[in-house]
Amino acid sequence: MQSDTVNLDFGRDHLSIPGPSVMPDRVLNAMHRPAPNIYGNAVVDLTTSLRHDLNKLAGNSGHLAFFIGNGHAAWEASICNTFSKGDKALFLLNGRFGSIWAEQAASHGVDVEILDFGHEQAVNADRLEERLREDTGHEIKAVLTVQTDTASSSSNDLAALRRAIDSAGHPALYIVDSIASFACEPLYMDETGIDVMITATQKGLMTPPGVALVFMSEAYLSRQPGADLVSPYWNAHPRIFSDHFADWFFGTPPTHHLFALREAVDMLLEEGILNTWQRHKLFASSVWAAVDAWGSQGSFACRVGDQSMRSTAVTTIKTAPGVAAGLRRRCESEFGVVLGVGLNPDPTGPVLDNMFRIGHMGHLNVPMLMGTLGTIEAALCSDGVPHGPGAIDAAARIIATR
Ligand SMILES: *Cc1c(COP(=O)(O)O)cnc(C)c1O
Repeated sequence: MQSDTVNLDFGRDHLSIPGPSVMPDRVLNAMHRPAPNIYGNAVVDLTTSLRHDLNKLAGNSGHLAFFIGNGHAAWEASICNTFSKGDKALFLLNGRFGSIWAEQAASHGVDVEILDFGHEQAVNADRLEERLREDTGHEIKAVLTVQTDTASSSSNDLAALRRAIDSAGHPALYIVDSIASFACEPLYMDETGIDVMITATQKGLMTPPGVALVFMSEAYLSRQPGADLVSPYWNAHPRIFSDHFADWFFGTPPTHHLFALREAVDMLLEEGILNTWQRHKLFASSVWAAVDAWGSQGSFACRVGDQSMRSTAVTTIKTAPGVAAGLRRRCESEFGVVLGVGLNPDPTGPVLDNMFRIGHMGHLNVPMLMGTLGTIEAALCSDGVPHGPGAIDAAARIIATR
């Protein structure tokens, strides 16, 4: 073959986007088995064991309802089980994902109020407290926020927001989307006083997209929100309390997802969730060190300036116009690494050409992380994009501090 460049399109690609995340071979293999009898005890025991262990990982002494679906399904469940038409919801936004959730609530007729903190910082607990103090009639039924917004990669201090609700003496429910951050970033449901926490299987849980998890505190369920938006399908109660297994998934259970999830949860328990969180922190720090190095003589910066407001599951990186788009193209089409797109704050707008994201969530080890960073370095050199030296060295030194 005649060619003046070497074709490197060979071997297994690496998905470095913030979900779906890389699935471990153990998880993939766990699904490679015949269909089980859904009327037998084994699948009931499997679901019960998952409920127990997932609650443990969430620090939740309350309940967990499963829904077949993605993150949007978890959003739907959180809305329909909480609100009646016309109820007031206060959404704290720091990125695009929270705003889609808010739009979904508004489309159901929930009276949505928004405190928007932009795409470069966490939401502000003082502003929340101030707003709740003004609500002397306690019209706001729930405060909703994401733990990590996957578009901006800014992360919120969940305990500080709880303290703000308490200081204001406000009875609002506290509802959190941990879809991007569950099993990546620290979360203690009971201790923090979270009423509802939602997540899905395809990010930190390393399992195919398809199961939405809605964790609820005992207090939330005992307050019987009596939401009139709830429909038979979206009702969490029978999924938790019914004596009939068929009600737990409102039909056929997602059997192979359950096998996969069981394996993934076993892996997390074997690792120890504290280590999982620390591993994410270390990998995130090495990504930030690489970005700082590239930015020392080039146009690269983490979108969220303040490190304490950054997610440790995903990092959004700003570049000069066009650079991020070119970098993603080069990495994906030739170098075998798929990077995340820069999401436009305007949902009708195109993806941003000066922003890309590195997903560093879930099943990730040193060669996978360093492979992504090294591949980006190679693409920058290949395209002649000005950037500072020493990024890979800086990332390696962070890893060495483990
Ligand atoms: C991925 C994600 C969602 C949406 O999940 P889908 O499975 O795409 O519906 C919602 N919220 C956050 C924070 C996410 O990261």
